[in-house]
Amino acid sequence: MICEKGKCTGCFACYNICPRNAIMMKEDEFGYVYPEIEEDKCIHCNLCRKICPSLNKVTFYQPQKCYAVYSKNSEIRNKSTSGGIATTLSQYIIENEGIVYGAAFTEEGNVEHIRVSQKEDLHRLQGSKYVHSYINQVLKAVKQDLEMDKLVLFIGTPCQIAGVRKFLNKDYSKLILVDIICHGVPSQKYLKNAILNIKGNLNIDRVNFRNNNQYQFQIIQEDKEVCCVPTEKSSYVEAFIRTITLRENCYHCMYACSQRVSDITIGDFWGLSKEAKLYDQAEKGVSVMLVQTDKGKEFLQQCSNLFEMEERKYEEAIKGNSQLKAPAVQDKFYERFRKYYLKYGFEKAYDKVSGLFRLKASLRKMKYYFRKAKK
Ligand SMILES: Cc1cc2nc3c(=O)[nH]c(=O)nc-3n(C[C@H](O)[C@H](O)[C@H](O)COP(=O)(O)OP(=O)(O)OC[C@H]3O[C@@H](n4cnc5c(N)ncnc54)[C@H](O)[C@@H]3O)c2cc1C
Repeated sequence: MICEKGKCTGCFACYNICPRNAIMMKEDEFGYVYPEIEEDKCIHCNLCRKICPSLNKVTFYQPQKCYAVYSKNSEIRNKSTSGGIATTLSQYIIENEGIVYGAAFTEEGNVEHIRVSQKEDLHRLQGSKYVHSYINQVLKAVKQDLEMDKLVLFIGTPCQIAGVRKFLNKDYSKLILVDIICHGVPSQKYLKNAILNIKGNLNIDRVNFRNNNQYQFQIIQEDKEVCCVPTEKSSYVEAFIRTITLRENCYHCMYACSQRVSDITIGDFWGLSKEAKLYDQAEKGVSVMLVQTDKGKEFLQQCSNLFEMEERKYEEAIKGNSQLKAPAVQDKFYERFRKYYLKYGFEKAYDKVSGLFRLKASLRKMKYYFRKAKK
């Protein structure tokens, strides 16, 4: 291991920096990937440890501005997860001959960060994939683009952004880093288990996890819906929301706080006040946007005409969005789920723990009525 297993975010910075390709990213029994050094290739340069964001100081920035915002492009907004901010920013970058990096489903059914230089391919990045996206070799490509003086937009979770910063080890004026507020990530193995259980094979284009503010598990193949499972029937979505399947480090994520590591942060504006002008748009998706750096501010000024925006107090966003305050709290049945998973597989394991949730809820109800009757 490079850092302690419980601290590793799987940002792939060590994997990209190694001059001998001596680091492999290997899945553990639950499908979470961790770096492993191949001792016979390693030259002990220690670069992997020198740049690991979990072992070294990471710079955090205080948001200077907070906005409620959505894209004026209604087609983008409808197809996006929240206010369509990520896709609108990405489109602007491509139109200005830049390159965008973001998470996409691949033909093999994996979720990976890819490089996009054509507008036609941007739809692959659109939509939240509630799973750990693999960065693979992409950080080397980011550096290459920047060295060629290209404009680059990288969108990812805060731990991925910290990985980009540490890997590059210097600021580039043409690099814009956007992080998404993050609840935590399940493993790709869990996602594949869920797809296999519903579809019987991994032959899919993608999974749509959200329909505006509604969570779902919609499988798309050849641009058509194969099936759509609502939240309460999707063990994958329920387990994600219940924080039972997140990567170990997510439960003590150092990035789940009010200060940020990126130039711009985006997320859902869940705490938007009824008094806000954009409140009546909330059902169609209104995002929160935080601007930390001068570079982020300048970039936003250039493309602000693409958005409906309203300045709001940062406290309002923090109030409605737990992961701007603290990491997700591990579910009480987390360990039990993992034990069952190894024995019975994803569906049966979740079925068993959800039986325990129901039992716990009934006991709580009984206790309440018992106390009331005693009074
Ligand atoms: C795992 C996960 C957890 C999240 N938790 C929260 C939360 O707790 N609170 C909150 O307010 N918002 C959360 N979000 C963010 C939210 O769901 C939206 O992604 C965000 O508001 C952007 O919406 P949009 O309409 O602008 O993006 P879109 O225009 O739909 O584009 C989506 C963007 O997200 C990126 N992306 C998608 N999946 C991933 C991934 N797995 N890893 C890295 N980048 C990805 C894509 O590259 C793309 O740029 C989470 C997102 C993810 C992926």
